[in-house]
Amino acid sequence: MYRNLKVVPRVVFGRGCFDQLDGILEPQRTGSGIMVFILDDFFEGKPLEKRLPLRDGDLFLRMNVDDEPKTKGIDALCEQIRQFCGNGRLPDGVIGIGGGSVLDTAKAVSLMLTNPGEAHEYQGWDLIQFPAIYHVGIPTLAGTGAEVSRTAVLTGPVRKLGLNSDHTVFDQVILDPDLLEGVQKNIPEQWFWTGMDCYIHNVEALCGTFVNEYARAFGEQSQVLCREVFLDHHPESDEKLMMASYFGGMSIAYSQVGACHALSYGLSYVLGLHHGIANSIVFDYLEDIYPEGVKEFRAMAERNNITIPRNLTSGLSEAQMEKMVEVSTGMVPLWENCLGKEWQEKMPKERMRKLFNKM
Ligand code: NAD
Ligand code: ZN
Repeated sequence: MYRNLKVVPRVVFGRGCFDQLDGILEPQRTGSGIMVFILDDFFEGKPLEKRLPLRDGDLFLRMNVDDEPKTKGIDALCEQIRQFCGNGRLPDGVIGIGGGSVLDTAKAVSLMLTNPGEAHEYQGWDLIQFPAIYHVGIPTLAGTGAEVSRTAVLTGPVRKLGLNSDHTVFDQVILDPDLLEGVQKNIPEQWFWTGMDCYIHNVEALCGTFVNEYARAFGEQSQVLCREVFLDHHPESDEKLMMASYFGGMSIAYSQVGACHALSYGLSYVLGLHHGIANSIVFDYLEDIYPEGVKEFRAMAERNNITIPRNLTSGLSEAQMEKMVEVSTGMVPLWENCLGKEWQEKMPKERMRKLFNKM
């Protein structure tokens, strides 16, 4: 059986297109009329906040993403939104404006407003029963591919795992390269970590056993764009990185990530590291698996004066190390994509443990 891929039905791309948001939302205001805007709190007091097309009765939420989104946080947000709307009403739309953390939050909230129970009950594949509230994604950082993916990654009581479903996919995305302005200059490390998430998605998809021409077409073009951004510093890097992220997401939608993501989930779970930086830390040790990719990744780090953090696991307890291995071992489809059905012979727990020991 081939995957019947659900993709984002509507996309606007171009500098300044953020200003079309009000017109895009207008026809959706058919029920309660309420729109919920979730904005990354980095923009507090900044011009973008004033450009939000808030109307009377809309709800505006600033979101802090020092910690990546958690299932508990999603449940609390849904409760807050339900109380705000009152009388059992629901909003007509949820709009997330920020990096991958805010995009995933908007997706998860829109799902959990229409599905009973708590968010952690839906961590997994195709557990969501009812369609989400209309939801819009507007990235302000590029690389995760969260704007196109069918998952909303959440840390729950037992694992970090997404709400993966067709209903998770955004109804609309707005790709405005203006929103990336200043990222490279002001937060060069974050720019690099999130961008490398995209680069690593592509390496893992292209080297994986699941890859097909659909995934390859998107993944290869995304790599071309990543090189133009991280090796050539092309003057249109914001446009290019925004499209690299989109294409990287489209590529893994029809393939899968691999060893780096599997190990990085374990590392993040125990150390609380953000996704992009955790991937970079892990990738640096995967020369045996992705020799060409790791070589180019190091060249990109050097070109951008980025130092990859080291020596993070030496002080961890036995239980913490075990947990890391356990979380990573649970990422079965990722290992299968990377090493094939017999992955456990090629990546026994001891090999995983040795890799973590080096980090
Ligand atoms: P992020 O959303 O965690 O944000 C990182 C930092 O950048 C935050 O401090 C944020 O406030 C700040 N920021 C955001 N936009 C900015 C801007 N324009 N200028 C300056 N600062 C800005 O970072 P991310 O790397 O985009 O996302 C990581 C998250 O995405 C993780 O939670 C990860 O699990 C998730 N993820 C999801 C998918 C998916 O397919 N759904 C894929 C990969 C990663
Ligand atoms: Zn990733």
